[in-house]
Amino acid sequence: MRGTRTAVAARAEGVVKAYGAGETRVVALDGVSVDIERGAFTAIMGPSGSGKSTLMHCLAGLDTVTAGRVWLGATEVTGLKDRKLTRLRRDSVGFVFQSFNLLPTLNALENITLPMDIAGRRPDREWLRRVVATVGLADRLKHRPTELSGGQQQRVAVARALAARPEIIFGDEPTGNLDSRAGAEILGFLRRSVDELGQTVVMVTHDPTAAAHADRVLYLADGRIVDDMLNPTADLVLDRMRRFDARGRVA
Ligand code: ADP
Repeated sequence: MRGTRTAVAARAEGVVKAYGAGETRVVALDGVSVDIERGAFTAIMGPSGSGKSTLMHCLAGLDTVTAGRVWLGATEVTGLKDRKLTRLRRDSVGFVFQSFNLLPTLNALENITLPMDIAGRRPDREWLRRVVATVGLADRLKHRPTELSGGQQQRVAVARALAARPEIIFGDEPTGNLDSRAGAEILGFLRRSVDELGQTVVMVTHDPTAAAHADRVLYLADGRIVDDMLNPTADLVLDRMRRFDARGRVA
């Protein structure tokens, strides 16, 4: 995909995602269209059950859609066969989860390069050095996960997501397991990966302070985008959340 970089890192067009059928049918996404701009930090917010994780999974090619189309960069994800989809995900998408998902027997550096090692790809040394410096891990690379704090382990996970220089990084509540200081650090590193390394980050969060690190906040309710805020602050986000009731209607 490198070489054919577009201004949009990911795109959903009329995406519907339904689970089940008949009486038990649940529409998790109800016609979502959105462009995720390259080199920007986007937060996805909304009440529990509003479709945040489903949208992230559909954009990341982790889940199929019921209707509509999804692109990652210039490549249409919808309709791709398994093998191509797996390769696209491996080469173009980085993930950071709430749990750090590090292998305990490998040191920090080995964890960072593991996905590339599995894919048989050689890390770009200069890029890796910048990533490690950005997340402040240069003096911790030989440490195993058990020798690192939670915040440091999540830094390793962020570096692992960045290592292959993906098209886009998805974070699912990446600070959910961290105290506020370590969480703020991780958000700072995600911010720097956008500002200094030119990466694209999409993060699901319920925390207005976390969302305030983003350039843009998308609000979901009942499977629809009900608001789209640029240059958020924690106060603006809180204000906006108060104006929507639990089902996303303006209160
Ligand atoms: P959020 O991340 O905002 O909490 P989700 O995307 O997880 O919301 O879920 C949106 C809706 O889809 C919810 O009603 C949820 O119960 C439903 N849903 C999500 N995944 C599944 C699944 N695998 N099977 C059935 N229903 C699901």
